[in-house]
Amino acid sequence: MTMTILVTGGAGFLGSHLCERLLQDGHEVICVDNFYTGSKDNIRHLLAHPRFELIRHDVWLPLYIEVDRIFNLACPASPVHYQNDPIATVKTSVLGAINMLGLAKRRKARILQASTSEVYGDPQVHPQPEAYWGHVNSIGPRACYDEGKRCAETLFFDYHRQAKVDIRVVRIFNTYGPRMHPHDGRVVSNFIVQALKGDPITLYGDGSQTRSFCYVDDLIEGMTRMMDQDAVIGPVNLGNPSEFTIRQLAETVLRLTGSRSTLEYRPLPQDDPAQRQPDIAKAAAALDWTPYVALEDGLEKTIDYFKKTLNQ
Ligand code: NAD
Ligand code: UDP
Ligand code: UDP
Repeated sequence: MTMTILVTGGAGFLGSHLCERLLQDGHEVICVDNFYTGSKDNIRHLLAHPRFELIRHDVWLPLYIEVDRIFNLACPASPVHYQNDPIATVKTSVLGAINMLGLAKRRKARILQASTSEVYGDPQVHPQPEAYWGHVNSIGPRACYDEGKRCAETLFFDYHRQAKVDIRVVRIFNTYGPRMHPHDGRVVSNFIVQALKGDPITLYGDGSQTRSFCYVDDLIEGMTRMMDQDAVIGPVNLGNPSEFTIRQLAETVLRLTGSRSTLEYRPLPQDDPAQRQPDIAKAAAALDWTPYVALEDGLEKTIDYFKKTLNQ
């Protein structure tokens, strides 16, 4: 069935891939973005599509449009960007959630929240299942994002219980791929851009902290499956359970790019989680979903993308 689907943050990294996928599935897509971290370049190829519409708008502000479904992705996701204007980050997460939930309530539209593994903070349970309540510093530099996203989850579940809004919540773990901004600041884009330019690879701390990296196509498949099923509202973890140290990631990027960049050690940022790996048993059972793209294959595609972008 063709639906009109709103994607907030649709001009960002994940949002642009999601808009593309929803158009392929035959839907009308309305992309809302204020271009804080996203870019028109990410969706330029969609602008002439007859079923695509772009609205420059800030989700802190009310939005009255007619839609059947909402994917709420608007929020800077890179620590560098979300800490640049932390008050804006909290406003985007909290006021954005309230406005989009108000819209969903009025329209009786299903709404999916792009939540995050950051709700687990610096986790003391490993890997992280959805039942884990997390270990978050509420006043640290990451709190604007972590607590903003936690409050958004609270709002989603309260609107569900109190106003019967049809919600879905996914907790996304580190995802990478083409259309990450070259100055995004997240580790995969940083390392690839540094390796391609021959600049030093900036390793924060001793590089022994771990992350589990999911390729964007796998993630988008999981998000659309979550939206399309009726059995589970979430939260459901989405991510790739293959766990690597950040030093291993640096070495892999150096090998795949053939770069002679050196490793440069920098101080570990405050509250940087020591380890992170999703438990995806719930997604496997509820969505029949599992990620397929191995880190090296995803990195190759991402490296190809950055080679083209940097040469433009
Ligand atoms: P991104 O920064 O590329 O995209 C975010 C988009 O939201 C940008 O286009 C930005 O301009 C837009 N935006 C920000 N504030 C806005 C506002 N007030 N009004 C309207 N638009 C606004 O990041 P991304 O990686 O694509 O992340 C998308 C979503 O997924 C975010 O909510 C993020 O928290 C979540 N997420 C991503 C990851 C990941 O690894 N990529 C992991 C966990 C959660
Ligand atoms: N809202 C919106 N679009 C809509 C409906 C509501 O942006 O189509 C906003 C509205 O600004 C409101 C918020 O969503 O402040 C929350 O809506 P809700 O119905 O919960 O709030 P109320 O109107 O009862 O204050
Ligand atoms: N990191 C790094 N060098 C960089 C960027 C990040 O060593 O240039 C580390 C960072 O300290 C963290 C991990 O890589 O331990 C992932 O960082 P990212 O900002 O991508 O996302 P996070 O998972 O911390 O939100």
